Amino acid sequence: MALDIRGVSKHFRHKGKNTLALDNVDLHVQPGEFICLLGPSGCGKSTLLNIVAGFMKADSGTILSQGTPVTKPGADRCVLFQQPTLYSWMTTKQNVMFGPKMTGMDKTAASERAAELLDIVGLGAFQNHYPHQLSGGMRHRVAYARALINKPNILLLDEPFAALDAITRVSMQNFLLELWQQERTTILFVTHDVEEACLLADRVCVMSARPGRVHAISTVDIPRPRT
Ligand code: ADP
Ligand code: ADP
Repeated sequence: MALDIRGVSKHFRHKGKNTLALDNVDLHVQPGEFICLLGPSGCGKSTLLNIVAGFMKADSGTILSQGTPVTKPGADRCVLFQQPTLYSWMTTKQNVMFGPKMTGMDKTAASERAAELLDIVGLGAFQNHYPHQLSGGMRHRVAYARALINKPNILLLDEPFAALDAITRVSMQNFLLELWQQERTTILFVTHDVEEACLLADRVCVMSARPGRVHAISTVDIPRPRT
């Protein structure tokens, strides 16, 4: 199993007020699955993603990433933020190769894999461009290539396209689907947008916000042609 969330609960105490953000949540994600966490604002989606990422600790329950307990952030769980942060002084390809360079991956292998990923994200002709020479959408795609070169077990995305204009958002949604279909990476995608969840996901986990406290997850299979 790529990700196994068992009985995770989390409460916040803020200004004397107690909020139960996650109440005994279970979620099992298979390798290669594209799963969307869907629910209204405040239902605990970001809290769950932050706990899976290792940014935050659960009160109780366990999370296993490829069988290993999650206690802190790790390269197995790659979080991509709304604003891609590329190194401005590095070319597109150098940005993509930065991770492998740090982990000591063979340089030729890293270079070939970077070139392959840049082709997949449609930026093969932009390997030697610098971030400021790319459009917003292109910079996002570089960030995805850079994430995937490190072979994460799972990509964690929290409303990644929320800040984009409508046209770029649609192009990024299609891009992400193509990338997922080609690379078969496991994706946990947080959104409050029903349409986005149904467009993207294999499975949608609906988190319901009962006034102030209980949050349950139920899963729905979305029938969708697969390539
Ligand atoms: P979502 O991502 O679905 O909008 P969140 O996970 O951000 O929901 O929040 C779930 C609940 O926990 C909300 O009621 C929110 O106000 C509360 N909450 C989240 N983070 C904190 C925090 N750091 N301190 C206090 N309450 C928080
Ligand atoms: P946005 O930033 O709005 O998402 P895109 O990333 O789709 O925009 O692309 C912005 C501009 O760059 C467009 O004019 C597009 O034609 C051009 N462009 C994007 N990707 C490529 C590519 N792989 N080859 C050539 N031109 C491209």
